[in-house]
This record gives sequence, C-alpha cells and structure tokens, in this order.
Amino acid sequence: VLHLDGVRKSYQTGTLHVDALRGIDLGIDEGDYVAIMGPSGSGKSTLMNILGCLDTPTSGTYRLVGVDVGELSENELAEVRNRLIGFVFQQFNLLAHLTALRNVELPLAYAGVPGDERRRRALAALGRVGLSDRVDHRPRELSGGQQQRVAIARALVTDPALILADEPTGNLDSRSTRDVLALLEELHDQGRTIVLITHEEEVARAAQRVVRIHDGELRVTAPAVRR
Ligand code: ATP
Ligand code: MG
Repeated sequence: VLHLDGVRKSYQTGTLHVDALRGIDLGIDEGDYVAIMGPSGSGKSTLMNILGCLDTPTSGTYRLVGVDVGELSENELAEVRNRLIGFVFQQFNLLAHLTALRNVELPLAYAGVPGDERRRRALAALGRVGLSDRVDHRPRELSGGQQQRVAIARALVTDPALILADEPTGNLDSRSTRDVLALLEELHDQGRTIVLITHEEEVARAAQRVVRIHDGELRVTAPAVRR
C-alpha cells in the first residue's frame, strides 16, 4: 500500500542542520500491522509525518496507493490525508470545546458528509470503541483512556485504508493501553493497514513486524513474533 525509497528529511533551524531521516527504504503491504521502534530523537515522528502526508521528504520518493506524494499540491495532499489516513496521537489532539460526538464528526465535516449521516457514522464509531454513553462529554470530562478511544473513533470514522498511531499509549496506564491495543488489533483484523510508533517493546509486540530506526536509518527488520 505504501513505499518509501531513499527518503531523506533535513531540518534547518537557524544555522543548525539536522538530518532527521537519512535514506529510508520501507515497503508496507495492505493489511500489514507494523511497529516502528526507536529511541527519542531517532526520527520516528518525522517518518510518521511523511507517511501521513503531513510533511514531504527533502529527497527520495514516497508512493502511497501508487501515487507519488512528492508530486502533489497542498490541496491534493490534504485530500489524500482526509480520504486515506486516520491519525492517533500521544496527546489525543481532541478539540477541547467540542463534545466527543463533534470531535468524531470533524473529519466527515471536512469531507463534506451531510449532517445526518455524519452524526449516524460518528455515533457508530463511538459505539465501536465502547463510548456510546459518553458522546456528549467534552475531553476534560473523559479519562485519558476514554479520550484516546474518542481519538480512535475519529481515526476510523472515515473508514481509512491506513491508520497511523504515534505513541498512542504513551500517556495511558496499562489497562487503557490494553484497550487501545485491542482496538487496533480489531481494526487490523478488518483488513486495515496499521503503523504503530512506540518505544515500548511490550506495545510493539502487538504488531506483526517490527522496524527499528536509529539516527534516521532503519536497522534490522525482525521477523513476525506473534503472541
Ligand atoms: P521522540 O521519541 O522523542 O518523539 P522521535 O523519534 O519522534 O523522538 P523526531 O521528532 O522525528 O524524533 O525528531 C528527529 C530529529 O529531528 C530530532 O533531532 C529533532 O530535534 C529534529 N526535528 C524534528 N522536528 C523538527 C522540526 N520541525 N524542526 C527542526 N528539527 C526537528
Ligand atoms: Mg516522536
């Protein structure tokens, strides 16, 4: 479903130049569940931003469902993002003034889905993450684990082909971590492609394949180790 070829990403901040990614070659097939592991500063979030079309490589190519992402305009990038990708972040990234339902409806609103259908689909997504009784709660009225489940509902409501999760369990206790991993597993069982970024071995074990990144370069790809 996606392919990175010699992807490099450099940042220039004042006079300081940082090579965050130094030639990444990586293929991920449709239906794969891949964990990307690496120490702090190794380039995980940078890679995630490129995979999610939030940023483009400095050089090298990124093809997503056959499209060369580097060739797309800002508008086309946003369109690809909205249509194909669901994001889950460590900080949940929910809008504080909106209810759970409204937060989950947002990506559908961007996609131009009419109000009734938006509501119906958002309610269904919240049901799938077990939050049918919290739809009118605002983020601060929810626990961390519940907020992350709202974020997962928001990620899946557009029925994306690819789900990108950057440290989705980083702020959660072990119980909520298990809930989130179980939800990702369920999405994977339904045929979605999942990329999970983590620095916890325990969490990475949920994936079929682990890719390790060090200093902007990929290391060994461990064979599948399934519980
Ligand atoms: P962590 O586990 O701490 O989240 P990470 O693996 O996600 O780390 P990145 O955020 O990808 O690491 O950062 C990789 C390198 O690129 C770091 O040295 C960082 O300082 C640098 N970097 C990241 N984003 C930017 C930016 N927007 N501008 C300049 N430098 C950046
Ligand atoms: Mg990061």
